[in-house]
Amino acid sequence: MSEQRGTIIGVDLGGTKMLVGAVDGQGKVEHVMRDLTHAEEGAEAVIDRLAALCRRVREALGPGRPVAAVSVGVPGGVDIVAGVVDKAPNLGWVDVPLAAELEKRLGARVFLDNDVRVAVLGEHAHGVGRGTKTMVGVWVGTGIGGGVIIDGKLHQGARGVAGEIGHSMVDPRGPKCKCGNRGCIEALASRTSIERDLRVAIADGLKSSALKRIKKKGREQLTSGIIDRLLSDEDPAMMKVFARAQGALGRFTANLINTLDPEVVVFGGGIAERLGERFVAPIREVAHAHLLSKRDLDRVRVVATQLGEVAPIVGAAHLARERLARAGATTATTTSG
Ligand SMILES: [Zn+2]
Repeated sequence: MSEQRGTIIGVDLGGTKMLVGAVDGQGKVEHVMRDLTHAEEGAEAVIDRLAALCRRVREALGPGRPVAAVSVGVPGGVDIVAGVVDKAPNLGWVDVPLAAELEKRLGARVFLDNDVRVAVLGEHAHGVGRGTKTMVGVWVGTGIGGGVIIDGKLHQGARGVAGEIGHSMVDPRGPKCKCGNRGCIEALASRTSIERDLRVAIADGLKSSALKRIKKKGREQLTSGIIDRLLSDEDPAMMKVFARAQGALGRFTANLINTLDPEVVVFGGGIAERLGERFVAPIREVAHAHLLSKRDLDRVRVVATQLGEVAPIVGAAHLARERLARAGATTATTTSG
């Protein structure tokens, strides 16, 4: 069996949890396993825990299914050639040689890329974007990240930093964003921003059971699950704040479509996974209202993620397969497996 067709272990390394699974050449995921990241324990401990989880997935595959590579989606900036995590604020990492450290522990080739970029790649290769040439992915979580596919490939840009769509400024008088600008879409519609606005709405006197629910869950954060519950209960504060975020995302989506005319705009991340069409339908409606050309609207799909939480795993594996194929094409090595 060639390396390209072998099994790849895909990893989604998040700030709170890590998800690992085995991915075959068709993008099918098996043996998904998860663990908490515990970033506060430091990089060494996190890498040890990640390696242990990868080993468990490898053992679950059994000896007849060799692993061609391990590929990791990382929440931050990555030097993909050196295999180094430049900066991952959610992990508290700066210049961590993750690929080399994992290779040492696992004895396998390890590839890295940014988590949102691999998630978008996953949706393009094996999800809603399959077969499309132009696609935009918008991942809404604690921040908003994204990726742009042009001519079937992830668009890298002149400096390799394309796709930072979360910092598109949509309201110069809007709230301050952590990047220093004002009114970025991330500062208006990320889960963090929704929580901030929700607390303001409640302080202003709108009725809500949000604070009680957040407390009951024992977390300090508004989760996608709580958002889902509040919307189902028609919680006044949540309904108002959420609709406003969807409106901002709709206008932002119109900008994306007016600029790129993509075949698909896919929304991913916790809220989109959880709410699906309930999240996306109002965004689509607002986007359509602001399009310059309203011709053939069915040819520009605005949809929720199909792969859900395994999108980064599938995409990371896809990326590794491409890189192995490229390496194989240049060195022409043969492997038996
Ligand atoms: Zn910003």
